[in-house]
Amino acid sequence: MTNSPFTPGIVPARLDGHVLQENFSDLHAPLDAHEALVAADRCYFCHDAPCITACPTSIDIPLFIRQISTGTPEAAAKTIFDQNILGGMCARVCPTETLCEQACVREAAEGKPVEIGRLQRHATDTLMAQGVHPYSRAVATGKRVAVVGAGPAGLACAHRLAMHGHDVDLFDARPKGGGLNEYGIATYKATDGFAGAELEWLMQIGGITLHKGRALGRDLSLDALCAEYDAVFLGMGLGGVNALRAAGEDRDGVLDAVDFIADLRQADDLANLPVGRNVVVIGGGMTAIDAAVQSKLLGAENVTVLYRRARAAMPASRYEQDLAASKGVRFIFNAMPVAILGNGVVTGVRVEYTRAEGRSLVGTGETFDIPADQLLKAIGQTLTGAPDALALEGGKIAVSGAGRTSASGVWAGGDCAAGGEDLTVTAVAQGRDAAEDIHASLMG
Ligand SMILES: Cc1cc2nc3c(=O)[nH]c(=O)nc-3n(C[C@H](O)[C@H](O)[C@H](O)COP(=O)(O)OP(=O)(O)OC[C@H]3O[C@@H](n4cnc5c(N)ncnc54)[C@H](O)[C@@H]3O)c2cc1C
Ligand code: SF4
Repeated sequence: MTNSPFTPGIVPARLDGHVLQENFSDLHAPLDAHEALVAADRCYFCHDAPCITACPTSIDIPLFIRQISTGTPEAAAKTIFDQNILGGMCARVCPTETLCEQACVREAAEGKPVEIGRLQRHATDTLMAQGVHPYSRAVATGKRVAVVGAGPAGLACAHRLAMHGHDVDLFDARPKGGGLNEYGIATYKATDGFAGAELEWLMQIGGITLHKGRALGRDLSLDALCAEYDAVFLGMGLGGVNALRAAGEDRDGVLDAVDFIADLRQADDLANLPVGRNVVVIGGGMTAIDAAVQSKLLGAENVTVLYRRARAAMPASRYEQDLAASKGVRFIFNAMPVAILGNGVVTGVRVEYTRAEGRSLVGTGETFDIPADQLLKAIGQTLTGAPDALALEGGKIAVSGAGRTSASGVWAGGDCAAGGEDLTVTAVAQGRDAAEDIHASLMG
């Protein structure tokens, strides 16, 4: 190995292959059958269970946990999939610490919730490992629906529509389906090609044809889709990223964090992936945390997350922040970049402290410099390529009810639609609910 964490610049192979493999292995080991029984035993099977209300897909959590404790994890999986067909991925990526597990009565009583996420993974993995797809299609309706975007929203919508007997053409601009499950989620949350395996499993329902490399706005138009299909669902996510608006943003070494993560997710060999010695990540959401943690795991010597507000305002949960800190990531709060330093290539970031003035943030005038050979921007994504015909709200597609857009016969859900929380599980819920609404309107 010629490189190490101390090698200057952006270089590959800072760590040995076996260390990289270890670093990017499963964040939480799966529960074995005995551990699952013990974990399930902690559930009180509450009446009016608060964990169900806290789950955006309203999974009957006490029921599936009881099914695990009675030795029928396959039945538990079916309970989960009835509400959330991507229950396997959500078991891995949901911020359970701010959703079901935060609401669990045992969290309130003892500060130690029932491990709902790990139990969900145990159940869904058990059924999926058997290659079983527990749904079949209703009698064909003869109706055809176009779904644009094969991310969590589009997949949940397509699956539910196919189950109801409709034929679905699923279009995605990228060479692989799965959306951010395939290109965005941190490597250590969805290991061993799980996103691809889950997609294949979901497609076993039949009646869904996936057209890869087909983009709305480039290869397809909304007018043509509306003319050819009985309904259209848009689940195209957020393809653009916000600009930093700091001088020097065009220097070499400045990269969008989502692109860095997509390269990482698609890398055949992590040792070939270059990373800086001093990495600075700008932002405060899950993307910032994931980019920072993965830079550190690739062997960067110093990784710093710069967030312009106080810790309490950070969109990433405290659990995610602590995970990053445990890997050696440093946080600087109340600080914003004002200039990217360097001559052609980034060498550092000039940072100014901030303070809140009413509802806005202002610089305090006090600045300092941090060395950086790589700067990753994770300051939010934006909607690109939304058809002109659709009304927007806050930069996203305006929707009412179960994802109805301003155009008749066109629904939208997931990150591209206004009002969501930009989580995998909310995208699934919205795709599923739009499918039910489409079904009702086609059959009404
Ligand atoms: C780096 C990162 C990490 C994240 N980590 C987590 C996490 O740990 N837990 C969590 O709950 N959430 C996480 N999220 C958020 C979560 O991934 C999203 O909320 C979720 O994927 C949204 O699903 P979606 O189907 O709306 O969009 P996407 O997953 O973005 O899928 C949209 C699909 O549409 C396709 N598309 C886009 N434009 C077009 C077009 N014009 N024509 C055809 N197809 C198009 C895209 O190729 C893509 O496949 C993360 C997000 C990022 C960026
Ligand atoms: S709140 Fe906790 S204890 Fe009660 S049903 Fe849900 S998981 Fe079980």
